Amino acid sequence: MPGIEEQPYKVLVIGGSYAGLAATLNLIDLCHGRKCRFNLDPNAVAPEKKIPVQITIVDERDGYYHLIGVPLALGSNIDASDFWKKYEDIPALQNLDIKTVQGRVDSVDCKSRVARIYQSTANDGHKIVEEKYDYMIATTGLRREWPSAPKSFTREAYLAETADSVETIENAVQGVVVIGGGAVGIEIAAELKMLRPQSKVTLIHSRQNLLSSEPLPAEFSAKTLELLKESNVEMVLGARVQETVPADDSTSAKYTLKLSNGEEINADYVINAVSKFSPTSSYLPSGACDSEGYIRITPSLEFSGDVPNKEYHYAAGDIACWSGIKRGGAAMHQGHFAVVNIHQKMMAERYKTEPKFVELAEVKPMMALALGATAVGYFPATGISSGDEVRNMFFNEDLGYQICWKWMRLGEATD
Ligand SMILES: Cc1cc2nc3c(=O)[nH]c(=O)nc-3n(C[C@H](O)[C@H](O)[C@H](O)COP(=O)(O)OP(=O)(O)OC[C@H]3O[C@@H](n4cnc5c(N)ncnc54)[C@H](O)[C@@H]3O)c2cc1C
Repeated sequence: MPGIEEQPYKVLVIGGSYAGLAATLNLIDLCHGRKCRFNLDPNAVAPEKKIPVQITIVDERDGYYHLIGVPLALGSNIDASDFWKKYEDIPALQNLDIKTVQGRVDSVDCKSRVARIYQSTANDGHKIVEEKYDYMIATTGLRREWPSAPKSFTREAYLAETADSVETIENAVQGVVVIGGGAVGIEIAAELKMLRPQSKVTLIHSRQNLLSSEPLPAEFSAKTLELLKESNVEMVLGARVQETVPADDSTSAKYTLKLSNGEEINADYVINAVSKFSPTSSYLPSGACDSEGYIRITPSLEFSGDVPNKEYHYAAGDIACWSGIKRGGAAMHQGHFAVVNIHQKMMAERYKTEPKFVELAEVKPMMALALGATAVGYFPATGISSGDEVRNMFFNEDLGYQICWKWMRLGEATD
């Protein structure tokens, strides 16, 4: 453990997206003796002393990806390009105390505090690199399949992937069908309709109500349906797609979808947005996780499962087992709180200060959905709202890309 005054604390951040970057940059602020960037309390004071730190971010991707923007990226090359920023092109990360490594963490030994990183090398080879740490924060989120997340790990391959999708959508004269009326399917259908109002976009959902697997009020689902219809997305509710077959020559479409209600729909492009996701925690001992694979944490975000050295291990974001619907805002908030607590421990170890920890509150279900030119939100305190106010607060023109970028201050150099 660092004890030698000059030796930096080695902090390993696994996963460099909302939770991971929020954790990294807030920790840099605190260790450099500044009030951290997410702390909006006007009475908060900066730490009195600095702490040497070396943060390593490991991510399978070569950059930060604005996952919230996927529904827009599928249909717009310009937005797709904006949403993936290589780590080397993010001004806030260009600091000697921050290192980024592209690779997949495939195991973590909590006892010796060593992570094994699997890295691809030229000619399809690979190597394993070991990274020792004092503190680790797991922020690897959920494994999601396309179209909920890109398949690629490099910006170049991702741009080719989205260019394919954009081209297919542009050429879908006979329309696009989106299967799955959860949040992702709804946003994809609405964004595609906004981008190309002349195209036919149909959303098919197996239940009578949209968002049927979310613990949200029925009025929220009803309002969402109303707004989708107003934006001319065609809806098929209460029917399953039983089969997608090549369309016969009498139609000029590519596919025919046969539905459980006997209906047939022709389309040139079918997007399956029935959400499939799973936690990415396979690199941890199973004792760290609940039965579904989410990392068990205390309200101060420290590991609470059955692993050694819990006090040096934290989790934040989608991968952490905490209440509330998984959201980017919550991920950033958790990354912030995790490092406030890690910093308190470092201060206590190094300067014998009395640590003061912050704790997560329980989170009730809430959601904001972008619906093309409009948006709808449900928040326990304010109920359901929709329109420009919701859209401007959560999304603006770019599905919240600039909002997240500015909130994390990714465009500003970090001293
Ligand atoms: C289509 C879509 C729309 C959404 N819309 C909204 C919205 O409007 N508002 C909202 O608040 N939320 C929205 N969400 C949810 C939001 O995107 C997530 O809550 C958020 O991405 C969680 O952030 P995170 O940092 O925890 O994980 P992620 O963003 O999933 O990041 C995890 C990172 O870890 C990396 N990683 C994974 N495994 C490993 C490994 N073994 N080794 C190294 N790196 C690894 C990944 O490459 C990735 O960069 C949406 C999600 C989707 C899919």
